[in-house]
Amino acid sequence: MKLSIIVPCYNEESSVDEFYNQLTTKLNEKKIGYEIIFVDDGSKDDTSNKIEEIIKKDKCVKLISFSRNFGKESAMLAGLDHATLDYIAIMDADMQHTPSMLISMYEKLIDNKEYDVVCAYKAKRNDENPIKRTLTSIFYQINNHISEVKLLPGASDFRVFKKDVKDAILTLKENKRFLKGIFSWIGFNTIYVPYQPEKRLYGKSKWSIIKLIKYSLDGMISFSTMPLKALFMIGVVIFIIGLLNFILMGHLSSKTIILFVSIIMLSIGVISLYVERIYNNVLKRPNYIIKKELGFSKKTTK
Ligand code: UDP
Ligand code: MG
Repeated sequence: MKLSIIVPCYNEESSVDEFYNQLTTKLNEKKIGYEIIFVDDGSKDDTSNKIEEIIKKDKCVKLISFSRNFGKESAMLAGLDHATLDYIAIMDADMQHTPSMLISMYEKLIDNKEYDVVCAYKAKRNDENPIKRTLTSIFYQINNHISEVKLLPGASDFRVFKKDVKDAILTLKENKRFLKGIFSWIGFNTIYVPYQPEKRLYGKSKWSIIKLIKYSLDGMISFSTMPLKALFMIGVVIFIIGLLNFILMGHLSSKTIILFVSIIMLSIGVISLYVERIYNNVLKRPNYIIKKELGFSKKTTK
């Protein structure tokens, strides 16, 4: 059995060597054949050169370099597009996802033939700042109410899965991808295993609160039109209230008008999120552009 390991990297020059050493030590110990696909997501530091040095020593390592920063979702997609082996894993380069956890997830998948995906989820979120924790919890609550795909709170992109699952993911051609939602939407049997992410080895997380809110909103509307239906219902209610008010009192109070205008502004906001998606999907721009690929033509696995 062989494992393709996809590793999105953005400014990870300090981590890649240690990540590679620790990962391959574990894989060799367990005699697991592998290919490691590093996706350099437009790093501004020396990440690409570090990976090129590794490729000189190890023919099972590959590099995809993007022309600019397209985001982790695009990096994961490029990895999936290029992965060739029977089992696929996605893990971060910053050592928050440990190689030993990866191996135990892989072994779980091999031992449980009826399962297709092993997904690590953060059981405790006590280490995060309270604002991030509260926002994340609100996101899961709202999403699981309105969306046709249910997400397990804390479920991460750290997963190991069969090739069939990868093929199913790649049938979805949408722009602005939300992989956690896609995993849930395509189905398949998933085992969830709790994990506690390690501290980042170097550097800091690329997520700001604003980025997180934007990502969560994108994720929510990727799989639900419920907000649009809710707007229609709110519109009907406002129309009835407004009409009654007008008939009974002959005019609308300024407070009522302010309330109505605020609701209309909010509605435009919600609609614009969907319009943005339509715009992006109509243009059909690619999710990423590759500047350089290394290691793909030669013998690819051990
Ligand atoms: N990453 C990426 N593109 C980006 C941001 C992040 O490929 O635009 C990579 C990053 O190098 C890391 C993984 O995605 O390997 C997770 O990023 P990060 O550690 O910043 O997120 P967190 O662990 O805080 O969720
Ligand atoms: Mg991280």
